Amino acid sequence: MQELSHWVNGQHVKGTSGRFGDVFNPATGDVQARVPLASIAELDAAVAAAAAAQPQWGATNPQRRARVMMEFVRLLNRDMDKLAEALSREHGKTLPDAKGDVQRGLEVAEFCIGAPHLLKGEFTDSAGPGIDMYSMRQPLGVVAGITPFNFPAMIPMWKFAPALVCGNAFILKPSERDPSVPLMLAELLQEAGLPDGILQVINGDKEAVDAILDNPIIQAVGFVGSTPIAEYIYGRGCANGKRVQCFGGAKNHMIIMPDADMDQAADALVGAGYGAAGERCMAISVAVPVGDATADALIERLIPRLEKLKVGPYTAGNDVDYGPVVTAAAKANIHRLVETGVAQGAKLVVDGRDFSLQGYENGFFVGPHLFDHVTPDMDIYRKEIFGPVLSTVRAQSYEEALALAMDHEYGNGTAIYTRDGDTARDFAARVNIGMIGINVPIPVPLAYHTFGGWKKSAFGDLNQHGPDAFRFYTRTKTITARWPSGIKEGAAFNFKQMD
Ligand code: NAD
Repeated sequence: MQELSHWVNGQHVKGTSGRFGDVFNPATGDVQARVPLASIAELDAAVAAAAAAQPQWGATNPQRRARVMMEFVRLLNRDMDKLAEALSREHGKTLPDAKGDVQRGLEVAEFCIGAPHLLKGEFTDSAGPGIDMYSMRQPLGVVAGITPFNFPAMIPMWKFAPALVCGNAFILKPSERDPSVPLMLAELLQEAGLPDGILQVINGDKEAVDAILDNPIIQAVGFVGSTPIAEYIYGRGCANGKRVQCFGGAKNHMIIMPDADMDQAADALVGAGYGAAGERCMAISVAVPVGDATADALIERLIPRLEKLKVGPYTAGNDVDYGPVVTAAAKANIHRLVETGVAQGAKLVVDGRDFSLQGYENGFFVGPHLFDHVTPDMDIYRKEIFGPVLSTVRAQSYEEALALAMDHEYGNGTAIYTRDGDTARDFAARVNIGMIGINVPIPVPLAYHTFGGWKKSAFGDLNQHGPDAFRFYTRTKTITARWPSGIKEGAAFNFKQMD
Protein backbone atom coordinates (compact mmCIF):
# COMPACT_ATOMS: atom_id res chain seq x y z
CA MET A 1 0.00 0.00 0.00
CA GLN A 2 1.39 3.37 -1.04
CA GLU A 3 2.02 5.70 1.89
CA LEU A 4 1.79 9.39 0.97
CA SER A 5 3.71 12.12 2.75
CA HIS A 6 3.74 15.77 3.69
CA TRP A 7 5.96 18.22 1.78
CA VAL A 8 8.11 20.25 4.15
CA ASN A 9 11.22 22.33 3.40
CA GLY A 10 11.40 21.01 -0.14
CA GLN A 11 11.16 17.31 0.72
CA HIS A 12 8.63 14.55 1.13
CA VAL A 13 8.31 13.93 4.87
CA LYS A 14 6.61 10.92 6.43
CA GLY A 15 3.79 11.53 8.87
CA THR A 16 4.64 10.97 12.53
CA SER A 17 1.20 11.30 14.15
CA GLY A 18 0.40 7.61 13.65
CA ARG A 19 -2.94 8.61 12.11
CA PHE A 20 -3.78 7.95 8.44
CA GLY A 21 -6.72 8.39 6.10
CA ASP A 22 -7.69 6.07 3.25
CA VAL A 23 -7.39 7.36 -0.32
CA PHE A 24 -9.73 5.43 -2.60
CA ASN A 25 -9.82 4.67 -6.27
CA PRO A 26 -13.47 5.74 -6.68
CA ALA A 27 -13.87 3.68 -9.85
CA THR A 28 -13.09 0.38 -8.13
CA GLY A 29 -13.79 1.20 -4.50
CA ASP A 30 -10.29 -0.02 -3.57
CA VAL A 31 -8.07 1.80 -1.08
CA GLN A 32 -5.06 2.77 -3.19
CA ALA A 33 -3.00 4.78 -0.71
CA ARG A 34 -3.00 6.07 2.82
CA VAL A 35 -2.40 9.68 3.63
CA PRO A 36 -0.84 10.85 6.89
CA LEU A 37 -3.05 13.06 9.05
CA ALA A 38 -0.86 15.69 10.69
CA SER A 39 -0.71 16.41 14.39
CA ILE A 40 -0.67 19.92 15.85
CA ALA A 41 3.10 19.55 16.42
CA GLU A 42 3.74 18.61 12.77
CA LEU A 43 1.71 21.57 11.55
CA ASP A 44 3.39 23.99 13.96
CA ALA A 45 6.88 22.82 12.94
CA ALA A 46 6.09 23.36 9.23
CA VAL A 47 4.76 26.84 10.01
CA ALA A 48 7.86 27.76 12.03
CA ALA A 49 10.10 26.68 9.15
CA ALA A 50 7.99 28.66 6.69
CA ALA A 51 8.24 31.73 8.91
CA ALA A 52 12.03 31.41 8.93
CA ALA A 53 12.19 31.16 5.13
CA GLN A 54 9.64 33.87 4.28
CA PRO A 55 11.54 37.14 4.91
CA GLN A 56 14.11 36.39 2.21
CA TRP A 57 11.39 35.39 -0.27
CA GLY A 58 9.37 38.50 0.63
CA ALA A 59 12.44 40.64 -0.08
CA THR A 60 13.06 38.99 -3.46
CA ASN A 61 11.98 41.42 -6.15
CA PRO A 62 8.51 40.78 -7.60
CA GLN A 63 9.87 40.16 -11.08
CA ARG A 64 11.99 37.27 -9.85
CA ARG A 65 9.07 35.82 -7.93
CA ALA A 66 6.96 36.14 -11.08
CA ARG A 67 9.59 34.24 -13.05
CA VAL A 68 9.08 31.26 -10.74
CA MET A 69 5.42 31.32 -11.77
CA MET A 70 6.41 31.61 -15.43
CA GLU A 71 8.50 28.46 -15.17
CA PHE A 72 5.79 26.74 -13.10
CA VAL A 73 3.32 27.34 -15.94
CA ARG A 74 5.74 25.76 -18.41
CA LEU A 75 6.17 22.72 -16.15
CA LEU A 76 2.41 22.34 -15.69
CA ASN A 77 2.03 22.19 -19.46
CA ARG A 78 4.89 19.71 -19.70
CA ASP A 79 3.33 17.41 -17.07
CA MET A 80 -0.33 17.96 -17.96
CA ASP A 81 -1.03 14.32 -18.85
CA LYS A 82 0.69 12.99 -15.75
CA LEU A 83 -1.15 15.41 -13.46
CA ALA A 84 -4.50 14.67 -15.07
CA GLU A 85 -4.02 10.93 -14.72
CA ALA A 86 -3.12 11.19 -11.03
CA LEU A 87 -6.08 13.48 -10.50
CA SER A 88 -8.58 11.17 -12.24
CA ARG A 89 -7.25 8.15 -10.33
CA GLU A 90 -8.02 9.69 -6.94
CA HIS A 91 -10.97 11.92 -7.77
CA GLY A 92 -12.72 9.84 -10.43
CA LYS A 93 -13.41 12.62 -12.95
CA THR A 94 -12.77 11.99 -16.65
CA LEU A 95 -9.35 12.78 -18.13
CA PRO A 96 -10.54 15.77 -20.22
CA ASP A 97 -12.23 17.16 -17.12
CA ALA A 98 -9.07 16.57 -15.04
CA LYS A 99 -7.07 18.52 -17.61
CA GLY A 100 -9.60 21.34 -17.26
CA ASP A 101 -9.02 21.24 -13.49
CA VAL A 102 -5.26 21.71 -14.01
CA GLN A 103 -5.79 24.27 -16.77
CA ARG A 104 -8.04 26.56 -14.71
CA GLY A 105 -5.39 26.61 -11.97
CA LEU A 106 -2.59 27.13 -14.48
CA GLU A 107 -4.42 30.20 -15.78
CA VAL A 108 -4.32 31.77 -12.33
CA ALA A 109 -0.56 31.07 -12.15
CA GLU A 110 -0.32 32.72 -15.59
CA PHE A 111 -2.19 35.80 -14.30
CA CYS A 112 0.25 35.91 -11.37
CA ILE A 113 3.14 36.45 -13.78
CA GLY A 114 1.79 40.02 -13.84
CA ALA A 115 2.64 40.43 -10.15
CA PRO A 116 5.16 43.26 -10.63
CA HIS A 117 2.41 45.35 -12.18
CA LEU A 118 -0.26 44.26 -9.72
CA LEU A 119 1.93 44.98 -6.70
CA LYS A 120 2.86 48.49 -7.77
CA GLY A 121 1.89 50.94 -5.07
CA GLU A 122 0.46 54.42 -5.39
CA PHE A 123 2.37 57.66 -5.27
CA THR A 124 1.35 61.27 -4.81
CA ASP A 125 4.02 63.76 -5.60
CA SER A 126 3.90 66.95 -3.48
CA ALA A 127 0.89 66.01 -1.37
CA GLY A 128 1.92 69.03 0.70
CA PRO A 129 4.90 71.39 0.63
CA GLY A 130 7.91 69.12 0.21
CA ILE A 131 5.74 66.16 1.19
CA ASP A 132 5.27 63.00 -0.88
CA MET A 133 2.85 60.27 -0.02
CA TYR A 134 3.07 56.69 -1.21
CA SER A 135 1.62 53.32 -0.43
CA MET A 136 3.05 49.87 -0.88
CA ARG A 137 1.57 46.39 -0.74
CA GLN A 138 3.56 44.10 1.52
CA PRO A 139 3.19 40.35 2.05
CA LEU A 140 1.42 39.18 5.18
CA GLY A 141 4.07 36.60 6.14
CA VAL A 142 2.85 33.02 6.49
CA VAL A 143 -0.64 32.32 5.14
CA ALA A 144 -2.64 29.11 4.72
CA GLY A 145 -5.14 27.49 2.40
CA ILE A 146 -7.59 24.68 3.17
CA THR A 147 -9.05 23.15 0.02
CA PRO A 148 -11.81 20.71 -1.04
CA PHE A 149 -11.68 17.39 -2.88
CA ASN A 150 -13.54 18.43 -6.00
CA PHE A 151 -10.80 20.51 -7.67
CA PRO A 152 -7.55 19.14 -6.23
CA ALA A 153 -5.37 21.03 -8.75
CA MET A 154 -7.31 24.21 -9.52
CA ILE A 155 -8.26 25.39 -6.06
CA PRO A 156 -4.84 24.87 -4.40
CA MET A 157 -3.37 26.91 -7.30
CA TRP A 158 -6.04 29.62 -6.92
CA LYS A 159 -4.81 29.94 -3.35
CA PHE A 160 -1.05 29.53 -3.44
CA ALA A 161 -0.15 31.14 -6.77
CA PRO A 162 -1.19 34.69 -5.81
CA ALA A 163 -0.07 34.25 -2.20
CA LEU A 164 3.41 33.17 -3.28
CA VAL A 165 4.02 35.88 -5.90
CA CYS A 166 2.96 38.44 -3.31
CA GLY A 167 5.94 37.25 -1.22
CA ASN A 168 4.19 35.10 1.37
CA ALA A 169 5.04 31.60 2.52
CA PHE A 170 2.10 29.24 2.14
CA ILE A 171 0.80 26.29 4.15
CA LEU A 172 -1.51 24.15 2.02
CA LYS A 173 -3.86 21.70 3.71
CA PRO A 174 -5.44 19.87 0.75
CA SER A 175 -8.37 17.52 0.91
CA GLU A 176 -7.45 14.18 2.45
CA ARG A 177 -9.57 12.49 -0.26
CA ASP A 178 -7.19 13.29 -3.17
CA PRO A 179 -3.88 14.61 -1.86
CA SER A 180 -1.46 13.37 -4.58
CA VAL A 181 -1.82 16.19 -7.11
CA PRO A 182 -1.13 18.95 -4.54
CA LEU A 183 2.10 17.11 -3.63
CA MET A 184 3.04 16.95 -7.32
CA LEU A 185 2.37 20.69 -7.65
CA ALA A 186 4.77 21.33 -4.76
CA GLU A 187 7.48 19.31 -6.53
CA LEU A 188 6.93 21.32 -9.71
CA LEU A 189 7.22 24.61 -7.85
CA GLN A 190 10.52 23.50 -6.41
CA GLU A 191 11.70 22.61 -9.92
CA ALA A 192 10.50 26.05 -11.05
CA GLY A 193 12.82 27.68 -8.52
CA LEU A 194 10.68 28.29 -5.45
CA PRO A 195 12.96 28.27 -2.39
CA ASP A 196 12.44 25.45 0.09
CA GLY A 197 10.08 26.14 2.98
CA ILE A 198 7.98 28.68 1.05
CA LEU A 199 5.30 26.15 0.14
CA GLN A 200 4.59 23.47 2.75
CA VAL A 201 1.92 20.86 2.08
CA ILE A 202 0.50 19.43 5.26
CA ASN A 203 -2.00 16.65 4.86
CA GLY A 204 -4.61 16.17 7.50
CA ASP A 205 -8.14 16.46 8.79
CA LYS A 206 -9.86 18.59 11.44
CA GLU A 207 -6.84 18.39 13.76
CA ALA A 208 -4.56 20.02 11.17
CA VAL A 209 -7.25 22.57 10.27
CA ASP A 210 -7.73 23.58 13.90
CA ALA A 211 -3.95 23.83 14.30
CA ILE A 212 -3.88 26.25 11.34
CA LEU A 213 -6.70 28.32 12.83
CA ASP A 214 -5.00 28.52 16.22
CA ASN A 215 -1.40 29.02 15.07
CA PRO A 216 -0.47 32.64 15.91
CA ILE A 217 2.12 32.90 13.11
CA ILE A 218 -0.43 32.31 10.35
CA GLN A 219 -1.80 35.67 9.27
CA ALA A 220 -4.50 34.70 6.78
CA VAL A 221 -6.57 31.65 5.86
CA GLY A 222 -8.32 30.97 2.57
CA PHE A 223 -10.84 28.13 2.64
CA VAL A 224 -12.99 26.40 0.03
CA GLY A 225 -15.39 23.61 0.96
CA SER A 226 -18.87 23.02 2.33
CA THR A 227 -20.82 25.80 4.03
CA PRO A 228 -20.96 24.40 7.60
CA ILE A 229 -17.15 24.06 7.62
CA ALA A 230 -16.74 27.46 5.93
CA GLU A 231 -18.79 29.10 8.68
CA TYR A 232 -16.81 27.30 11.37
CA ILE A 233 -13.44 28.27 9.89
CA TYR A 234 -14.52 31.85 9.31
CA GLY A 235 -15.68 32.21 12.92
CA ARG A 236 -12.68 30.58 14.57
CA GLY A 237 -10.11 32.17 12.25
CA CYS A 238 -11.55 35.67 12.70
CA ALA A 239 -11.81 35.19 16.46
CA ASN A 240 -8.08 34.45 16.42
CA GLY A 241 -7.43 37.74 14.62
CA LYS A 242 -6.68 36.34 11.18
CA ARG A 243 -7.75 37.61 7.80
CA VAL A 244 -10.14 34.92 6.54
CA GLN A 245 -12.06 34.24 3.33
CA CYS A 246 -14.22 31.13 3.05
CA PHE A 247 -16.10 29.88 0.00
CA GLY A 248 -18.89 27.41 0.64
CA GLY A 249 -21.59 25.31 -0.95
CA ALA A 250 -24.11 26.09 -3.65
CA LYS A 251 -27.49 25.39 -5.20
CA ASN A 252 -27.29 26.95 -8.62
CA HIS A 253 -30.53 27.63 -10.50
CA MET A 254 -30.91 27.81 -14.26
CA ILE A 255 -33.96 29.77 -15.39
CA ILE A 256 -35.32 28.75 -18.76
CA MET A 257 -37.59 31.34 -20.34
CA PRO A 258 -40.26 30.28 -22.86
CA ASP A 259 -38.34 32.03 -25.67
CA ALA A 260 -35.08 30.09 -25.02
CA ASP A 261 -33.64 27.68 -27.55
CA MET A 262 -34.86 24.49 -25.82
CA ASP A 263 -32.29 22.18 -27.37
CA GLN A 264 -29.47 24.50 -26.34
CA ALA A 265 -30.92 24.78 -22.81
CA ALA A 266 -31.29 20.99 -22.51
CA ASP A 267 -27.72 20.39 -23.69
CA ALA A 268 -26.45 23.02 -21.26
CA LEU A 269 -28.37 21.44 -18.37
CA VAL A 270 -26.98 17.99 -19.09
CA GLY A 271 -23.38 19.26 -19.12
CA ALA A 272 -23.77 21.58 -16.14
CA GLY A 273 -25.93 19.25 -14.06
CA TYR A 274 -24.20 15.93 -14.63
CA GLY A 275 -20.62 16.80 -15.66
CA ALA A 276 -18.09 15.74 -13.01
CA ALA A 277 -20.99 13.71 -11.50
CA GLY A 278 -22.45 16.99 -10.24
CA GLU A 279 -19.46 17.49 -7.92
CA ARG A 280 -18.87 21.12 -8.87
CA CYS A 281 -19.73 24.15 -6.79
CA MET A 282 -20.88 25.76 -10.05
CA ALA A 283 -22.95 22.76 -11.18
CA ILE A 284 -26.55 23.53 -12.06
CA SER A 285 -28.66 21.53 -9.63
CA VAL A 286 -32.02 23.27 -10.13
CA ALA A 287 -33.77 23.87 -13.45
CA VAL A 288 -36.53 26.51 -13.34
CA PRO A 289 -38.56 26.44 -16.55
CA VAL A 290 -41.04 29.32 -16.77
CA GLY A 291 -44.51 28.05 -17.69
CA ASP A 292 -45.75 24.46 -17.95
CA ALA A 293 -45.27 24.34 -21.72
CA THR A 294 -41.58 25.26 -21.27
CA ALA A 295 -41.24 22.66 -18.52
CA ASP A 296 -42.82 19.91 -20.62
CA ALA A 297 -40.65 20.79 -23.64
CA LEU A 298 -37.55 20.73 -21.48
CA ILE A 299 -38.27 17.44 -19.70
CA GLU A 300 -39.10 15.85 -23.04
CA ARG A 301 -35.64 16.81 -24.29
CA LEU A 302 -33.75 15.95 -21.12
CA ILE A 303 -34.97 12.35 -20.74
CA PRO A 304 -33.44 10.95 -23.95
CA ARG A 305 -30.23 12.87 -23.37
CA LEU A 306 -29.87 11.40 -19.87
CA GLU A 307 -30.62 7.91 -21.12
CA LYS A 308 -27.66 8.23 -23.49
CA LEU A 309 -25.14 9.43 -20.89
CA LYS A 310 -22.04 7.28 -20.63
CA VAL A 311 -21.03 6.80 -17.01
CA GLY A 312 -17.74 5.03 -16.41
CA PRO A 313 -14.15 5.06 -15.20
CA TYR A 314 -11.69 7.57 -16.67
CA THR A 315 -9.78 4.65 -18.16
CA ALA A 316 -12.72 3.82 -20.47
CA GLY A 317 -11.88 6.66 -22.86
CA ASN A 318 -12.58 10.28 -23.53
CA ASP A 319 -16.19 9.73 -24.52
CA VAL A 320 -17.14 8.94 -20.90
CA ASP A 321 -19.46 11.74 -19.74
CA TYR A 322 -18.86 11.42 -16.04
CA GLY A 323 -17.18 9.13 -13.54
CA PRO A 324 -17.86 7.95 -10.00
CA VAL A 325 -18.41 10.21 -7.01
CA VAL A 326 -15.55 10.52 -4.56
CA THR A 327 -16.42 8.12 -1.72
CA ALA A 328 -18.94 5.49 -0.70
CA ALA A 329 -20.20 7.99 1.91
CA ALA A 330 -20.86 10.60 -0.81
CA LYS A 331 -22.75 7.98 -2.85
CA ALA A 332 -24.84 6.94 0.16
CA ASN A 333 -25.67 10.57 0.93
CA ILE A 334 -26.86 11.18 -2.64
CA HIS A 335 -29.06 8.08 -2.56
CA ARG A 336 -30.47 9.10 0.82
CA LEU A 337 -31.43 12.54 -0.50
CA VAL A 338 -32.99 11.01 -3.62
CA GLU A 339 -35.18 8.86 -1.32
CA THR A 340 -36.31 11.97 0.58
CA GLY A 341 -37.25 13.54 -2.76
CA VAL A 342 -39.44 10.57 -3.63
CA ALA A 343 -40.92 10.43 -0.12
CA GLN A 344 -41.69 14.16 -0.12
CA GLY A 345 -43.63 13.92 -3.39
CA ALA A 346 -41.26 14.97 -6.19
CA LYS A 347 -41.63 13.03 -9.44
CA LEU A 348 -38.49 11.04 -10.30
CA VAL A 349 -38.68 11.02 -14.10
CA VAL A 350 -35.19 9.57 -14.60
CA ASP A 351 -34.35 7.09 -11.88
CA GLY A 352 -30.66 6.22 -11.47
CA ARG A 353 -31.07 4.34 -8.19
CA ASP A 354 -30.42 0.89 -9.65
CA PHE A 355 -27.43 1.96 -11.71
CA SER A 356 -24.58 -0.52 -11.69
CA LEU A 357 -21.55 -0.81 -13.93
CA GLN A 358 -20.43 -4.26 -14.95
CA GLY A 359 -16.92 -4.96 -13.65
CA TYR A 360 -17.07 -1.93 -11.34
CA GLU A 361 -19.80 -3.02 -8.93
CA ASN A 362 -17.79 -1.78 -5.93
CA GLY A 363 -17.05 1.60 -7.51
CA PHE A 364 -18.84 4.75 -6.33
CA PHE A 365 -20.89 5.27 -9.51
CA VAL A 366 -24.24 7.02 -9.32
CA GLY A 367 -26.67 6.97 -12.24
CA PRO A 368 -28.26 10.19 -13.52
CA HIS A 369 -31.43 11.32 -11.73
CA LEU A 370 -34.00 13.88 -12.86
CA PHE A 371 -36.77 15.17 -10.64
CA ASP A 372 -39.81 17.11 -11.83
CA HIS A 373 -42.41 18.95 -9.71
CA VAL A 374 -39.93 19.78 -6.96
CA THR A 375 -41.12 22.39 -4.45
CA PRO A 376 -39.03 24.75 -2.30
CA ASP A 377 -39.88 23.00 0.98
CA MET A 378 -38.28 19.69 -0.11
CA ASP A 379 -34.87 18.56 1.16
CA ILE A 380 -33.65 17.95 -2.41
CA TYR A 381 -34.29 21.64 -3.12
CA ARG A 382 -32.91 23.13 0.08
CA LYS A 383 -29.75 20.99 0.43
CA GLU A 384 -26.68 20.72 -1.74
CA ILE A 385 -26.72 17.14 -3.08
CA PHE A 386 -23.34 17.28 -4.89
CA GLY A 387 -24.24 14.42 -7.20
CA PRO A 388 -25.78 13.76 -10.63
CA VAL A 389 -29.27 14.84 -9.56
CA LEU A 390 -31.18 17.67 -11.23
CA SER A 391 -34.33 19.08 -9.65
CA THR A 392 -36.95 20.84 -11.77
CA VAL A 393 -39.04 23.51 -10.05
CA ARG A 394 -41.81 24.81 -12.29
CA ALA A 395 -42.38 28.57 -12.09
CA GLN A 396 -45.37 30.31 -13.64
CA SER A 397 -43.67 33.66 -14.30
CA TYR A 398 -40.26 35.29 -14.60
CA GLU A 399 -40.79 37.06 -11.27
CA GLU A 400 -41.54 33.76 -9.55
CA ALA A 401 -38.40 32.20 -11.05
CA LEU A 402 -36.26 35.16 -10.01
CA ALA A 403 -37.70 35.02 -6.47
CA LEU A 404 -36.80 31.32 -6.19
CA ALA A 405 -33.13 31.97 -6.96
CA MET A 406 -33.11 35.00 -4.67
CA ASP A 407 -34.79 33.31 -1.72
CA HIS A 408 -32.44 30.32 -1.69
CA GLU A 409 -29.85 30.52 1.07
CA TYR A 410 -26.98 29.83 -1.36
CA GLY A 411 -25.80 32.42 -3.88
CA ASN A 412 -22.83 31.04 -5.76
CA GLY A 413 -23.87 30.99 -9.42
CA THR A 414 -26.98 31.08 -11.58
CA ALA A 415 -27.88 31.17 -15.27
CA ILE A 416 -30.71 32.36 -17.45
CA TYR A 417 -31.56 30.99 -20.89
CA THR A 418 -33.49 33.46 -23.02
CA ARG A 419 -33.39 35.26 -26.35
CA ASP A 420 -34.66 38.46 -24.75
CA GLY A 421 -32.01 41.03 -23.86
CA ASP A 422 -34.27 42.98 -21.50
CA THR A 423 -35.02 39.92 -19.40
CA ALA A 424 -31.37 38.89 -19.28
CA ARG A 425 -30.29 42.38 -18.27
CA ASP A 426 -32.95 42.66 -15.60
CA PHE A 427 -31.95 39.27 -14.20
CA ALA A 428 -28.25 40.14 -14.03
CA ALA A 429 -28.98 43.45 -12.33
CA ARG A 430 -31.45 42.22 -9.71
CA VAL A 431 -30.42 38.71 -8.69
CA ASN A 432 -28.52 38.47 -5.37
CA ILE A 433 -25.98 35.92 -6.57
CA GLY A 434 -22.25 36.31 -7.25
CA MET A 435 -21.73 34.78 -10.71
CA ILE A 436 -24.29 34.99 -13.50
CA GLY A 437 -24.48 33.19 -16.83
CA ILE A 438 -26.56 34.54 -19.71
CA ASN A 439 -27.02 31.56 -22.03
CA VAL A 440 -23.85 30.22 -20.34
CA PRO A 441 -24.50 27.36 -17.91
CA ILE A 442 -21.33 27.41 -15.77
CA PRO A 443 -20.20 31.04 -15.57
CA VAL A 444 -16.83 30.52 -13.88
CA PRO A 445 -14.95 33.80 -14.30
CA LEU A 446 -11.53 33.67 -15.93
CA ALA A 447 -8.34 34.17 -13.91
CA TYR A 448 -8.15 37.94 -14.39
CA HIS A 449 -11.68 38.45 -13.04
CA THR A 450 -12.60 37.28 -9.57
CA PHE A 451 -14.56 34.27 -8.34
CA GLY A 452 -16.96 34.36 -5.42
CA GLY A 453 -20.53 33.77 -4.36
CA TRP A 454 -22.94 35.70 -2.17
CA LYS A 455 -25.11 34.76 0.82
CA LYS A 456 -24.17 31.40 2.42
CA SER A 457 -21.78 30.60 -0.43
CA ALA A 458 -19.03 32.92 0.79
CA PHE A 459 -17.80 34.51 4.00
CA GLY A 460 -15.40 37.46 3.93
CA ASP A 461 -15.30 40.47 1.67
CA LEU A 462 -12.84 39.67 -1.12
CA ASN A 463 -13.14 37.15 -3.94
CA GLN A 464 -10.69 34.51 -5.12
CA HIS A 465 -8.10 35.11 -7.86
CA GLY A 466 -7.94 38.17 -10.09
CA PRO A 467 -7.02 41.49 -8.49
CA ASP A 468 -8.87 40.62 -5.25
CA ALA A 469 -6.33 37.88 -4.48
CA PHE A 470 -3.53 40.46 -4.52
CA ARG A 471 -5.47 42.52 -2.00
CA PHE A 472 -6.19 39.53 0.19
CA TYR A 473 -2.57 38.34 0.34
CA THR A 474 -0.98 41.73 0.97
CA ARG A 475 -1.46 44.58 3.37
CA THR A 476 -1.11 48.22 2.55
CA LYS A 477 1.41 50.51 4.15
CA THR A 478 1.17 54.22 3.47
CA ILE A 479 4.13 56.52 3.93
CA THR A 480 4.06 60.28 4.27
CA ALA A 481 7.58 61.60 3.67
CA ARG A 482 9.22 64.98 3.97
CA TRP A 483 12.89 65.37 3.32
CA PRO A 484 14.86 68.03 5.26
CA SER A 485 13.39 71.26 4.09
CA GLY A 486 14.46 73.44 6.97
CA ILE A 487 10.91 73.59 8.29
CA LYS A 488 10.87 73.23 12.06
CA GLU A 489 7.32 73.70 13.23
CA GLY A 490 7.33 72.27 16.72
CA ALA A 491 4.60 69.97 17.92
CA ALA A 492 1.23 69.83 16.16
CA PHE A 493 -1.84 68.56 17.99
CA ASN A 494 -4.40 68.64 15.21
CA PHE A 495 -4.57 66.71 11.91
CA LYS A 496 -2.33 68.62 9.59
CA GLN A 497 -4.00 70.18 6.55
CA MET A 498 -1.89 69.88 3.42
CA ASP A 499 -1.52 73.44 2.07
P1 NAD B 1 -15.48 19.81 3.06
O1 NAD B 1 -16.06 21.01 3.71
O2 NAD B 1 -15.88 18.46 3.57
O3 NAD B 1 -13.87 19.84 3.16
C1 NAD B 1 -13.14 20.98 2.77
C2 NAD B 1 -11.87 21.04 3.60
O4 NAD B 1 -12.22 21.19 4.98
C3 NAD B 1 -11.00 19.79 3.50
O5 NAD B 1 -9.65 20.17 3.41
C4 NAD B 1 -11.31 19.05 4.78
O6 NAD B 1 -10.20 18.31 5.25
C5 NAD B 1 -11.64 20.16 5.76
N1 NAD B 1 -12.63 19.73 6.78
C6 NAD B 1 -13.62 18.82 6.62
N2 NAD B 1 -14.31 18.68 7.75
C7 NAD B 1 -13.76 19.52 8.65
C8 NAD B 1 -14.05 19.83 10.02
N3 NAD B 1 -15.06 19.26 10.68
N4 NAD B 1 -13.28 20.75 10.63
C9 NAD B 1 -12.27 21.35 9.99
N5 NAD B 1 -11.94 21.09 8.70
C10 NAD B 1 -12.69 20.19 8.04
O7 NAD B 1 -15.77 19.95 1.49
P2 NAD B 1 -15.50 18.89 0.35
O8 NAD B 1 -16.49 17.79 0.48
O9 NAD B 1 -14.07 18.55 0.28
O10 NAD B 1 -15.84 19.77 -0.94
C11 NAD B 1 -17.14 19.92 -1.46
C12 NAD B 1 -17.76 21.22 -0.99
O11 NAD B 1 -16.96 22.32 -1.40
C13 NAD B 1 -19.11 21.47 -1.63
O12 NAD B 1 -19.96 22.00 -0.65
C14 NAD B 1 -18.83 22.50 -2.71
O13 NAD B 1 -19.93 23.29 -3.08
C15 NAD B 1 -17.76 23.30 -2.05
N6 NAD B 1 -16.97 24.06 -3.01
C16 NAD B 1 -17.13 25.41 -3.05
C17 NAD B 1 -16.41 26.16 -3.97
C18 NAD B 1 -16.55 27.65 -4.00
O14 NAD B 1 -15.66 28.31 -4.53
N7 NAD B 1 -17.61 28.22 -3.46
C19 NAD B 1 -15.53 25.52 -4.84
C20 NAD B 1 -15.39 24.13 -4.76
C21 NAD B 1 -16.12 23.41 -3.84
